[in-house]
Amino acid sequence: MQNRRVLLGIDLGGTKIEIVALDAAGAELIRRRIATPHGDYRATVDAVAGLVHDAERELGSTGTVGVGTPGSISRASGLLRGSNSIFLNGRPIKRDLEAALGRAVRIANDANCFALSEASDGAGQRAAVVFGAILGTGVGAGIVVHGHLLDGPNAIAGEWGHNPLPWPRDDERPGPTCYCGKNGCIETFLSGPGIECDHLRATSEQVGSHEIVARAALGDAACGATLERYEERLARALAHVINIVDPDVIVLGGGMSNIDRLYARVPVLWGPWVFSDRVDTRFVKHVHGDSSGVRGAAWLGAA
Ligand SMILES: [Zn+2]
Repeated sequence: MQNRRVLLGIDLGGTKIEIVALDAAGAELIRRRIATPHGDYRATVDAVAGLVHDAERELGSTGTVGVGTPGSISRASGLLRGSNSIFLNGRPIKRDLEAALGRAVRIANDANCFALSEASDGAGQRAAVVFGAILGTGVGAGIVVHGHLLDGPNAIAGEWGHNPLPWPRDDERPGPTCYCGKNGCIETFLSGPGIECDHLRATSEQVGSHEIVARAALGDAACGATLERYEERLARALAHVINIVDPDVIVLGGGMSNIDRLYARVPVLWGPWVFSDRVDTRFVKHVHGDSSGVRGAAWLGAA
């Protein structure tokens, strides 16, 4: 085996497992994906190990291994929890992968992998503090400080989607019911389904999030108003983050991040809520998009 530096990243999802091999500069050496052996834990561990071994054989090098997957490893028990691939929950997947691969394996959730990917060689490259937020089916985020993911004792750093929408107006209280059991979570307003529900409440019309954005661009007043409410709420939610973390850059990912007007409008709207006479935080779209999960997993090995 050669001695060159190879970073292997695995994106372990409910329907597919993807592997990427990066060199130290972030160039992709290998990328492939297979179907997840759904519902079969042992076969899933073996499939990940098989992808790693095949990639290493092809490259003639061994690498570090990082895994991105929904949920988190409990520090207390070492077991995965909170994954939407429920057959993985309650399993010692980190320990079993380490046994199968004969080396340390780092595991992080999709939002943390996104933030690390963008901080390493994406839209947050060279920034000291990066807040990477995914606005998609759900809302999550990760925080990278000087190249290192924040990983606190509860393994929830950046999980701001289930905080309440800050500075709520009367018509935003108590807010929509969230699956987490609370009302008015940021996720219930800022996810893709969240904007659709908001539009439905305002107009009694069921419109998909893409359609709301498209119609707003064509001058539809109701869709324009929904998008303006969305932008103003995103501004408040991010002002809260700026007041606590004060990141150099906020990078957006997920389906809602493709609304290009957000990047000009939200920084105008967050000013009144940030406790500073000026706000120099950069607010930018992702560079790696859907590849952030697997690339961020690979970068786990560089830390
Ligand atoms: Zn919630």
